[in-house]
Amino acid sequence: MTTKKLLILAGDGIGPEVMAQVQRVIDWMAKKRRITFDVSEGLVGGCSYDKYGTPLTDQTMQQAIDADAVLLGAVGGPKWDNLPFADKPERGLLRLRKDMKLFANLRPAFVFDALAEASSLKTDLVKGLDIMIVRELTGGVYFGEPRGIETLPNGERRGVNTQVYTTHEIVRIADVAFELAAKRGKKVHSVEKANVMESGVLWREEVQKLHDAKYPGIALEHMYADNCAMQLVRRPKQFDVIVTDNLFGDLLSDCAAMLTGSLGMLPSASLGAADAAGNRKALYEPVHGSAPDIAGKDLANPLATLLSFGMMLRYSFGMTAEADLLDTAVKNVLDGGLRTADIMQPGKAKVSTTVMGESIVRELDKLGG
Ligand code: NAD
Repeated sequence: MTTKKLLILAGDGIGPEVMAQVQRVIDWMAKKRRITFDVSEGLVGGCSYDKYGTPLTDQTMQQAIDADAVLLGAVGGPKWDNLPFADKPERGLLRLRKDMKLFANLRPAFVFDALAEASSLKTDLVKGLDIMIVRELTGGVYFGEPRGIETLPNGERRGVNTQVYTTHEIVRIADVAFELAAKRGKKVHSVEKANVMESGVLWREEVQKLHDAKYPGIALEHMYADNCAMQLVRRPKQFDVIVTDNLFGDLLSDCAAMLTGSLGMLPSASLGAADAAGNRKALYEPVHGSAPDIAGKDLANPLATLLSFGMMLRYSFGMTAEADLLDTAVKNVLDGGLRTADIMQPGKAKVSTTVMGESIVRELDKLGG
């Protein structure tokens, strides 16, 4: 097996603190499982601006393109809030997503039993919840032309955005969803508004065609986006994989995320097109931001970043056993009662970022050392 090239971009705020816990797991894997990565590190966001005058250098961009996978912490903070638009930390992240052509955003909504009570829904509705939302990331109404604001001859102003999808954009995102479902619960809900939008009709037809031609063994249901929002809070466990466009995915993934209770627990992946060997460009990152209010205090929850690393092992490197091991270690540590401040519950033990990282490694030792 060739050594996988991993680029780590810890970023700003709590980014470096949570990434240090991933480094512990990487070290553990080298020591105990003889798995090594070709790891390089770079700067993105405010820290890159401070050093190089840009939130992402061309060199780091190239490193990201050349890597087998990129793991990112978070970017941004009040120090850089007043920079010109092009220099803002978030521009670094957007450039990474754009230049790596990452069109598929994967957002799992997974509820650990130990945290089920933190959900805004009743515990029995979310206990055991395991949904994967696959959102199209580079098309649709956020990018469609024409767009803009114009003043009409009668003096009124008009704002325009265009919802537009082509066949290949729909097929490639649906393909990602079916592939994922094949490795999970073998069920896909394809979500659009075909009742009122032509782009939704096309979406529905293309997803159905792909299903019939390539994935007859996967159960496919079509659902309108408004109904999907309702079903997510009514009976969320009916879902396995949800595939949807950029706008609906933006809303539905946040809605599903909140079923799980905490921002500090949510990983994500963004994938590009598969090359001839089936490998995809990929960026893994926690859903949360740089949390400037708690940065540098050893308070941040590192689990979202550790779970993002787990997704990398699973989806980019095919290391299912190691990904399962890491997920189990997180589950056991939570079952054992350890909590960072953001997920603290009565009667549990409050621990720092560092202690949470160390505890995960200790658990890995017990499980598979
Ligand atoms: P945020 O996610 O950074 O923080 C929101 C709240 O959640 C804060 O109270 C924070 O302390 C808490 N929180 C977040 N992650 C946590 C963790 N791992 N453990 C414990 N608590 C955690 O969002 P925000 O406050 O709106 O934004 C702060 C900065 O982050 C801004 O500069 C914003 O632009 C940037 N941001 C970056 C990303 C990214 O890098 N992908 C995403 C969102 C926001």
